Amino acid sequence: MYVACQEHIDHAIEAYIDKFERSPDLYLLDRIDIGETKPERCHFCERTPVYLVK
Ligand SMILES: [Zn+2]
Repeated sequence: MYVACQEHIDHAIEAYIDKFERSPDLYLLDRIDIGETKPERCHFCERTPVYLVK
């Protein structure tokens, strides 16, 4: 599972496919409840993430 900002969503998808060898599902972080606290930073930079890739 990755979180990514607008700019890094492509990186996140590629990283996911590399790791899990299947296409991920994408979610908008502010539309879903992922349990505890939401990640504050993109997996690839310091920005606020927009997408959840899982
Ligand atoms: Zn980013």
